[in-house]
Amino acid sequence: MSSPVLLPGATGLNGSGQQTTLGVMGGGQLGRMFVQAAQAMGYFTVVLDPDVISPAGLVSHYHIKTDYLDEQGLTQLLQRCAAVTTEFENVPAAALVTLGAARPAAPSADAVAIAQDRIKEKAHLARSGVPVAPYAVIESAAQLTAVADDLLPGILKTARLGYDGKGQVRVSSRADLVAAWDALKNVPCVLEQMLPLVAECSVIVARGWDGTCVNFAPQRNLHRAGILAVTEAFDGNLPAQLAEKAVQAAKNIAEELNYVGVLCVEFFVLQEGSPERARLGGLVVNEMAPRPHNSGHYTLDACDLSQFDLQVRTLAGLPLVQPRQHSAAVMLNLLGDLWPENLPEHAASDPAHMTARGTPRWQQVLALPGVHLHLYGKLKASKGRKMGHLTVTAATPEQARTTALAAAEILGIAPF
Ligand code: ATP
Ligand code: MG
Repeated sequence: MSSPVLLPGATGLNGSGQQTTLGVMGGGQLGRMFVQAAQAMGYFTVVLDPDVISPAGLVSHYHIKTDYLDEQGLTQLLQRCAAVTTEFENVPAAALVTLGAARPAAPSADAVAIAQDRIKEKAHLARSGVPVAPYAVIESAAQLTAVADDLLPGILKTARLGYDGKGQVRVSSRADLVAAWDALKNVPCVLEQMLPLVAECSVIVARGWDGTCVNFAPQRNLHRAGILAVTEAFDGNLPAQLAEKAVQAAKNIAEELNYVGVLCVEFFVLQEGSPERARLGGLVVNEMAPRPHNSGHYTLDACDLSQFDLQVRTLAGLPLVQPRQHSAAVMLNLLGDLWPENLPEHAASDPAHMTARGTPRWQQVLALPGVHLHLYGKLKASKGRKMGHLTVTAATPEQARTTALAAAEILGIAPF
């Protein structure tokens, strides 16, 4: 179903005086920031997430606490909302089909189903004009045996349900590969050739019901242990030609899927002089996320429209205008590792990294210029868990980097 224009505020549905309510499947931090952007514009919000203390549920007008496939929960959601979006790609496709039949839903169940499955996803990404990493589909023992030598060393990735490096095993020999596939319980996988990366980047686009497509400039991303650690967003973060190519590829993918909503596409930049670069070119497309993305969190503080503002606009059928970045920015992810209970013993007892109350040293960090702290309201700080992020904005890339490095040192994040 395509969207009529859903204006915010108490203009009333048929003059009833009701507030226009936007719905979101999933109550994580991305849902929270969507809810906050929608509320800032005057919408009411409803979140469906089984977790009683989910980050988005805590700040939404309404929170339906049922399973994603629960019929009553989905019915309640439809009663409440005028349109619905998602905040994570593993929302069951069947739920999105139900929702999409009754209300405008963006992204569509079809687009989400493709992003949920690396095998389907690769086929789409390959049509973007930028190559994917050489890969083989592994769904049977015969396919495992038939893998070409040049895919090793490689990374075996489960076709479904992977995120933050989960569901991935690095393999360097055939024996490794067999063991890794067993460890992954022989579920459908893809084996990708390990590529020599010099950098990673991502592009966020927003596409409306009428096909209008706007974008942010590519971000440069640093991953540690498979998890995004740092995003640098400023002029000169990537070679201009490459950045242009990445934007075009991301737009092609959105167009190809007839996508509505915010879409993030991740890319690898290959090392100069490597045989892989000679064969594939400088840029390889890695994967897409059918939603706002961690690498776009800086847009909240460094751009005149954030990725969440654009998610609201695409869903509600409001005008899409090209966002403008007004500050150089560096974003640092705040993982649970930084909380005292997770620090190695020597650091945990070192007052340099935490306050007396046992939280990271927010006061010292907030004393730096241009620092924006975002915490997601999660109670348990386990290792690798995304607890929040910190964006440093500045007039120049150099200033943003210098301050971000100072913040990283205060918090115990390794320099970059
Ligand atoms: P996300 O949290 O972004 O959804 P994910 O778990 O789906 O992550 P990928 O993006 O596939 O995983 O991989 C995680 C990281 O592992 C990449 O950002 C990159 O640093 C590294 N990586 C993945 N595939 C390759 C490859 N073929 N060659 C080299 N490095 C790779
Ligand atoms: Mg990724």
